[in-house]
Amino acid sequence: MHLRHGGIIPDIARDLHSSSVEPVVSETLQQARVTMDDIAAIAVTLKPGLPLSLVVGMKYAKHLARKYNKPIIPIHHMEAHALVARMQHNIEFPYLTLLISGGHCLLAVVEDVIQFKLLGESIDMAPGEMFDKVARRMKLRNIPEFAQMCGGQAVEVAGSRATNPHLFKLPLPLADYKDCNFSFNGLKTSVLLHLHRKEKEHQITADKLIPEVNDLCAAMLMATSRHLVHRTQRAMEFCQQNNLIPDSKKQLIVSGGVACNNYIFNALSLLCHEFNYQIYRPTPKLCTDNGVMIAWNGLEKWRRGLDIVTDLNTLDIEGNSKLGESFISKVA
Ligand code: ATP
Ligand code: FE
Repeated sequence: MHLRHGGIIPDIARDLHSSSVEPVVSETLQQARVTMDDIAAIAVTLKPGLPLSLVVGMKYAKHLARKYNKPIIPIHHMEAHALVARMQHNIEFPYLTLLISGGHCLLAVVEDVIQFKLLGESIDMAPGEMFDKVARRMKLRNIPEFAQMCGGQAVEVAGSRATNPHLFKLPLPLADYKDCNFSFNGLKTSVLLHLHRKEKEHQITADKLIPEVNDLCAAMLMATSRHLVHRTQRAMEFCQQNNLIPDSKKQLIVSGGVACNNYIFNALSLLCHEFNYQIYRPTPKLCTDNGVMIAWNGLEKWRRGLDIVTDLNTLDIEGNSKLGESFISKVA
């Protein structure tokens, strides 16, 4: 539905949430062969995100909580992305996380289930958003086998077919800054300029793609990886200088939808090898948005007795909410 509209339209997202939430919950209970009596608490995302969609989840969670007399565990969407790898791998606190998704790009130290130190974040757009926008402008979805892929995946597959990955030169964003912030706007603009130039050169019209599209995707993947590796290396150095992560716990967790990207993950793996870090990511289904990560975050909080709310009137959504305590000015 969202692919067809070329992006997420808040009203449509809300309506889809409203019509899906009840059947999804009852089917899930059925498939898991449990009833509401077996459920200890209800975990629900309250921040950050599109307010119209968050409200649907909150209202339904409150309805269930009242009906079955259960507490609610409020969840921060980005914390859930950053923690879900612990469900599949033996990862101990503290660890470094690089969260790369459709709406965020950030580096943080995860000290505990509700304790995060934010080292850096994107000053403009997220990498997933860049991939989605560029893929649309490149008309990648006109290739039948790409029709059902998200932008990021289409760019990854196209890039893997490049014959000349060094044909296009793209800049390293924020090269002169020593902090852990990210920027993808300039990179996106450079890619679009190359695209425009090639379209003119080949007199491309309507739904045709430029012949060098694979090479341009490869260049974008390489430039994105260089930027992410550059920043993550800086974060590793900062953690070392400030004793944020002991030598025995050097772990990098890559999370969010863009963590599915093998090219980017391999580049980060090389960095980790160099700096003696273990690297992990959740399986692809748990990298992009999913309900399991919300449930897992609820379970981690439940086990520690954190954020278990019985006075439902105190709960509300928050469209904008940063992750953890900001260390951004200290890293600069
Ligand atoms: P946020 O969590 O920041 O609010 P979101 O929930 O929309 O954003 P996710 O569901 O974590 O983001 O990830 C979706 C993004 O991941 C999309 O932008 C998509 O293009 C990108 N993505 C998915 N697979 C890949 C891939 N293989 N390579 C690059 N990007 C990918
Ligand atoms: Fe997400």
